[in-house]
Amino acid sequence: MLIFICGKSGSGKSTFAKRIADKLNFKYVNVDDIAHDFYAQPQFLSNISKLFGESVFDEDGFNRKKLGEIVFSKVEDGAVKEFNALSFQFIKSRLEPLLHENAVVDWLLLPKTQFWDCNALKILIKSQDEEMRLEKILQRDKISKEYLLLRESASIIYDEKDFDCVVSNNYDENFERVADEVAEKIRRRTTIKILGTQSPFSNKDGACPSYLIESGDKKIMLDCGSGSHRFFDMRKLENLSIIISHLHKDHFNDISNYQYCSLVMHRQKLLNDKINVYLPQFSTPISHLIAGEKDAFCNYFPIDEKSKYDIGEFKVDFLKVCHAQEVETFATRIKVNGKTIVYSADISFKSKDDFVKFSQDADILICEASLLKKHGFPEICNHLTAFQAGTIAKEGSVKKLILTHLWPLENINNYMAEAKQVFDKTIIAKEEREFYLL
Ligand SMILES: [Zn+2]
Ligand SMILES: [Zn+2]
Repeated sequence: MLIFICGKSGSGKSTFAKRIADKLNFKYVNVDDIAHDFYAQPQFLSNISKLFGESVFDEDGFNRKKLGEIVFSKVEDGAVKEFNALSFQFIKSRLEPLLHENAVVDWLLLPKTQFWDCNALKILIKSQDEEMRLEKILQRDKISKEYLLLRESASIIYDEKDFDCVVSNNYDENFERVADEVAEKIRRRTTIKILGTQSPFSNKDGACPSYLIESGDKKIMLDCGSGSHRFFDMRKLENLSIIISHLHKDHFNDISNYQYCSLVMHRQKLLNDKINVYLPQFSTPISHLIAGEKDAFCNYFPIDEKSKYDIGEFKVDFLKVCHAQEVETFATRIKVNGKTIVYSADISFKSKDDFVKFSQDADILICEASLLKKHGFPEICNHLTAFQAGTIAKEGSVKKLILTHLWPLENINNYMAEAKQVFDKTIIAKEEREFYLL
């Protein structure tokens, strides 16, 4: 697991990151230290004299502060851009091998780099006392106020919605205790892994809807659409429950993979407990076909409007929604560790009012957005547009909206743009992407 910790200089992010790494027994990676190694490279001096000439040297040789003055004040300068690219290449070569183990990465520039797309728990440290923050930097770095202000003017602006967790630093003795509490929450975290995001077909990069929610040793899989099993580690079948939202093939096609695999794994003594499969329309031919499968090591449970299930720590309930005639469809709500995750299944905007109530204040809403306004469907049909998904998220005051069930031939940025017209805290689902709830 990776944990990214960001924050302005002097915000306390390194203190926090070291404490978290220590508590969790993770490797602590300070990218500033890697950058300092860059200055010690034999090639470094010849590179910077080529880029900046004599301006970064004085009678004692290379002067880092002079380099800083140029880098922070002339961000658009060609030589500065080249210097930044060189130092980034160096950092990248050192950082990449460290990202394959449990690590806490402390780097204020992370959101500006390609590493930001990694699966990582992202924590922002926010100073609650700006005067104190600047004072701390002056003392620590022994620099002038002018130089500090120059450095500040070039510093990054963070967007809180890009982070899984925001921690305030009041610069009092509580800060380390807060770090310990966050470490404990990380240990008990809930992880949502996206296994499938598109419909009606899977292809090389994507699969039909499926989402894996893990907390403690229990796992709930919401739907198992075509091709989605490719993104699931079959060694993790123990303690798995699969909830099928409705009996459309793009939502249950991969069930036979899990069924047959469960039987083989059980015979190989690699699976002790049966997989629990929850499905609607228990007395229809399709559910009979699924629940009657002989080559499986599974239990089957019905879903209706009144169903409530306790699955380990998870408390699960359902809302019947309008989607397609003769295919009963259920949105799912999961409560775990004081957090709420809601999954829309496939849904018509006719169910908006009930679904807004069902999703009220959810921490994460995984919502279908099969359509865009431009696709020219009528206002009310069997699926939502991205704009309608955004409207539901807004009216339900959810904390984060994940758009899914996307048309594979459409540019995904168009879904994002349409949902963001109404709801800013929107993310597009992508196979293998993970989200964390603390
Ligand atoms: Zn459907
Ligand atoms: Zn569907």
